[in-house]
Amino acid sequence: MVAVRGRELRDELDTVSRALLRGASQGTSRTEFLREASAAILSFTGAESLDLWLEDRRRPYHWQASGQPLTSSITSLSSGAGADRWRRPRDGPSPAERLLDHILPLVDEEGKVAASATRAAGGSLWLRDLVLLPFEIDNLDEGVLRLCRPGVTEPTESDIVSCESLAHVLGVAIASRRAQAALTERVKELTCMYGIARIAATPNVALDEALQSIVELLPAAWQYPERATARITLEESEFRTRGFESGPRCLSADILVRGTPRGLVEVVYAEGDRDLERPILFEEAPFLEEEHNLIQGISRELTSIIERKRAEEETLRLQHQVRHADRLATIGQLAAGIAHELNEPLGNILGFAQLAHKSPGLTDQTRRDLEKIVTASLYAREIIKKLLFFSRQTPPEKLGVDLNKVVEDGLSLLEPRCAKAGITVVRKLAPEAPVVLGDAAQLQQVLVNLGVNAIQAMPEGGTLQVGTAMEEAVACLTLEDTGVGIPPENLERIFLPFFTTKDVGAGTGLGLAVVHGIISLHDGTVHADSEVGRGTRFEIRLPADEETMTGSDRNGG
Ligand code: ADP
Ligand code: MG
Repeated sequence: MVAVRGRELRDELDTVSRALLRGASQGTSRTEFLREASAAILSFTGAESLDLWLEDRRRPYHWQASGQPLTSSITSLSSGAGADRWRRPRDGPSPAERLLDHILPLVDEEGKVAASATRAAGGSLWLRDLVLLPFEIDNLDEGVLRLCRPGVTEPTESDIVSCESLAHVLGVAIASRRAQAALTERVKELTCMYGIARIAATPNVALDEALQSIVELLPAAWQYPERATARITLEESEFRTRGFESGPRCLSADILVRGTPRGLVEVVYAEGDRDLERPILFEEAPFLEEEHNLIQGISRELTSIIERKRAEEETLRLQHQVRHADRLATIGQLAAGIAHELNEPLGNILGFAQLAHKSPGLTDQTRRDLEKIVTASLYAREIIKKLLFFSRQTPPEKLGVDLNKVVEDGLSLLEPRCAKAGITVVRKLAPEAPVVLGDAAQLQQVLVNLGVNAIQAMPEGGTLQVGTAMEEAVACLTLEDTGVGIPPENLERIFLPFFTTKDVGAGTGLGLAVVHGIISLHDGTVHADSEVGRGTRFEIRLPADEETMTGSDRNGG
């Protein structure tokens, strides 16, 4: 620059300013930008080396560059001796002077510059071959540029003006690069939120699938995506990106479900000592303020997705249950119609066969044939009786019944068969009698039907566990076997009349239909869970008898 004067100098300054501003708008990283800017400044000013003290949201750092080819370094000043000096008051004379006063002790430890330097009108400080140029970045941050120009000791007026202008432009360029970078960050965040919203809006996606897709979106929204990994934990399930590992550089937020924390969303910067260009300030403050807000936003979004998906699943389940119950009721009506229609002719067949049986002068053969008619009719009547149970045509008596007693009576019928089949019976009965309003004989029928099925499901022996329990206003009866289990495609149909997987003679497929009918008449529910090869569990829930309940409340105090 020594050789350049007047108009030429202005042109030079123009060119370098434009280069700085262009570099700022290119979306490059901080280090890249500073390297390009340093090279341009060194060549424009003819300086041998430069230093920059800069703030980024008031976190100070120091940049050094020199030589050709350029070597550079960056150091954070947020901790250590220099850090306190940066916590300066925000008042005093002009920003430039205030900044210089503040920075001098830092860059001029022996006080040489401060003592004998000349201060230019624009706020810069000149001493021999050193020049300190303060500048503003934005309303929060400031910086100082120090140039070292061996051999240049007598700055001219235009020299001073152009150096001060250059520092000013540098401040603007830095601010502009930051704005650009911030914008890029916001775009990434919005892209992430948009992606989440799209996944949430996709119909027929299971919750697990949605959460896995969402977790894959997260790293890209962070400042250093190549290092970011993420995990979503929800109750027992976990969804993670590849390479996820817990670590200290972690940002997380609780996932609330109905107001209570049920999970966690985490973003972790992987440690990796690969010499990735170590981002400045990465060590002490890896996360932007906006990223703290972002993860909160993500967790809120997850909460709403989880609650919605769960509600959807619950609705589906209920719809299914209602449809199932509807179908059973329709079949029940049909069955009742048929049963009534058949009952009368069957009564005639039975009655007349019995009558004929008593007639004198029958051959033995005829007598045996008539006996067969009677037996077959009785068998048919049994089936009709069961059908009527299923279609809830047999109103139960409603008396207080102790389920524990039902179990004991039922087991006394079943235990001999269990012993023969090598089945261990385990009782888990409620200590206080679970009393329901109902028909003891019918409820015992339920237990026997379930018990017989369990026995038939364990031809090689096993364990039959029978339990009762009281849960608030509900009495539970459970039967659990370690038998062959029921495949899922059959589980839906087991309560249908005549559904059986057993050989002719071994089952009519009416046992569970009767159970269902009786329990429905008692305003209860019956539910089956099964795993093929592991066993089956039936759970019956009946409304507890209120009178005994209030009674026990009184006693229990
Ligand atoms: P049945 O016993 O006459 O076949 P049920 O209505 O009692 O008729 O049962 C229907 C079907 O449900 C059975 O054929 C069987 O396939 C299945 N099932 C019921 N209980 C069990 C059980 N405990 N373990 C395995 N399968 C069972
Ligand atoms: Mg059966």
